[in-house]
Amino acid sequence: MAKVKRRDLLKAGAAMAAAGALGGQGLAQEFYSRPPTLLPRTRAPRVVVIGGGWGGTTVARKVKQQAPEVEVVLVEQKPLFMSCPMSNLFLAGVKPLEWLVFDYTNVVKDGVIFVQEKVLDIQRDRRLVRTTGGYLAYDLLVLAPGIDYMYEAIPATPR
Ligand SMILES: Cc1cc2nc3c(=O)[nH]c(=O)nc-3n(C[C@H](O)[C@H](O)[C@H](O)COP(=O)(O)OP(=O)(O)OC[C@H]3O[C@@H](n4cnc5c(N)ncnc54)[C@H](O)[C@@H]3O)c2cc1C
Repeated sequence: MAKVKRRDLLKAGAAMAAAGALGGQGLAQEFYSRPPTLLPRTRAPRVVVIGGGWGGTTVARKVKQQAPEVEVVLVEQKPLFMSCPMSNLFLAGVKPLEWLVFDYTNVVKDGVIFVQEKVLDIQRDRRLVRTTGGYLAYDLLVLAPGIDYMYEAIPATPR
């Protein structure tokens, strides 16, 4: 997460002071205290799933199937899904690459809300997910972001 610099704080303070001087103190306070909402809440309970790989996509579809009244939101940073399972068939020239790559149309057809954004952090106490596009409130959160390699943990790994 980006660090707040002293200069930024001073700038924000100056902006608030200016807004206050113009009689807009309430407005300025609201601007700084309320994060932009990506998807407004409805009355439906909401499950947010982070990660649109095999894991997250399957959970999102199954939850919607089992509980249609629940709003299921799938957050994935990429527009396309590429399957590693079955990729040997592509490597061996048996199937074309398109056979392994899908967009999320069928997931949306199943009633899942697809949000293409990157998740930046999670505020568990407020049940909020911060994404590159704004905040998402949730009742239940599923984490399926896959794994990442820690190359730095392997001694003498060339970078
Ligand atoms: C070459 C290869 C072949 C394989 N073959 C097989 C096989 O034959 N059979 C088998 O069972 N398994 C196979 N596997 C393993 C299988 O691919 C993984 O177990 C599986 O893909 C894991 O799925 P996942 O949903 O947990 O994670 P992933 O598929 O890694 O999905 C995680 C998703 O989360 C998204 N994400 C991560 N961070 C964020 C963020 N901050 N914000 C938004 N989105 C985010 C990523 O973009 C990604 O789409 C293979 C793997 C490889 C590499």
